[in-house]
Amino acid sequence: MRIAVVGAGVAGLAAARTVAIADHEVVVYETAGAVGGRVASRQLGPYLFDTGATSIAPRGKALEGAMLGELDTSDLVPLTKSVYTIQYGRISPGDTAKAKIQRYVYRSGNVRLPEMLAAGLDVRFATPVDRIREVDRCYEVAGERYEAVVVSAPIPETEEILASLGDPRRFANARYRPCLSVLLGYAVDAGDRPYHALLEPEQRHPLTWLSFESIKSPGRAPEGHTALVAQLSPVASVALFNDSDADIVAETSVHVARLLGEKFTQPEATSVVRWRYSQPETTALFDTVNRPGQRVVVASDGVMGGRVEYAYESGVMAARLLLEDPLAR
Ligand SMILES: Cc1cc2nc3c(=O)[nH]c(=O)nc-3n(C[C@H](O)[C@H](O)[C@H](O)COP(=O)(O)OP(=O)(O)OC[C@H]3O[C@@H](n4cnc5c(N)ncnc54)[C@H](O)[C@@H]3O)c2cc1C
Repeated sequence: MRIAVVGAGVAGLAAARTVAIADHEVVVYETAGAVGGRVASRQLGPYLFDTGATSIAPRGKALEGAMLGELDTSDLVPLTKSVYTIQYGRISPGDTAKAKIQRYVYRSGNVRLPEMLAAGLDVRFATPVDRIREVDRCYEVAGERYEAVVVSAPIPETEEILASLGDPRRFANARYRPCLSVLLGYAVDAGDRPYHALLEPEQRHPLTWLSFESIKSPGRAPEGHTALVAQLSPVASVALFNDSDADIVAETSVHVARLLGEKFTQPEATSVVRWRYSQPETTALFDTVNRPGQRVVVASDGVMGGRVEYAYESGVMAARLLLEDPLAR
């Protein structure tokens, strides 16, 4: 069977890898110039940040077997510190049940995971797929013919791709929130803290998640420096989305300094990443969206849950649905 995969995020790569391991032919089309989608990392001078998923918790899903059993683990760091919460502008220990979940990061950036998943796959970069055509019981994607397609773009983009095919599937339940990730490097020591991140569960504070990149994985900032990623709440993200980077950084720095102290007023390295679709607030259901016998299958966190392990699971399930089709054998 010859299968096209649209999107080289974790869902698409999981699908492509499952297809390749089963000895079928697969080509991945990616609009960006790199793999990973919302698992992305960025170096700013001596500081290294994860701009999308800040940690990965496979929680017994298929991803666990891949991450811990099949892929290289030499770069993998199990997180030992927990997540504290921000309540009424103050820092306090978080939910103990959540603290027990084993989370991991990659020393060289979480993008290492999709890079390893993509190893050996035929990935065509800078190739957006905005339409699929059905021709002679095959599907034409970027001028080539395939017997089946996995579409793994975020759901609003997937809906448009399916509409080009006349596929009426709609995903009313899949709604994503936007998120601004603000990258901040400080020539200031964060000191020894019992947490690697702060969470504001009510999402009322403008900072909903503050990741201490240089605590979760030492080496992401020089000695005596601190690398932070501030993820803004949905309300703050919408309000500031089209503002300049300088304004977003200035606004965020004020909140960081209020929380961590005046020495965190002046970051020396800054950048802003705008995620229009960050994580789904609500998702569609994989089994409702995809039926046995369908040759165009949707894999995405938007049909399972807004986390890396769910995106991976959806990709594996999409591939299996196609490969288990009697016509595929
Ligand atoms: C700020 C932020 C923080 C997060 N934190 C965490 C966390 O700590 N832990 C966690 O588990 N998860 C986290 N997540 C969620 C996690 O990153 C996602 O659930 C997961 O990566 C989604 O993978 P995906 O493959 O479904 O989608 P994506 O990663 O979005 O992949 C889709 C790919 O399709 C490509 N594409 C889109 N349209 C087209 C087209 N027309 N043609 C070709 N290619 C196309 C895109 O460029 C992209 O590469 C976070 C996400 C964000 C944004």
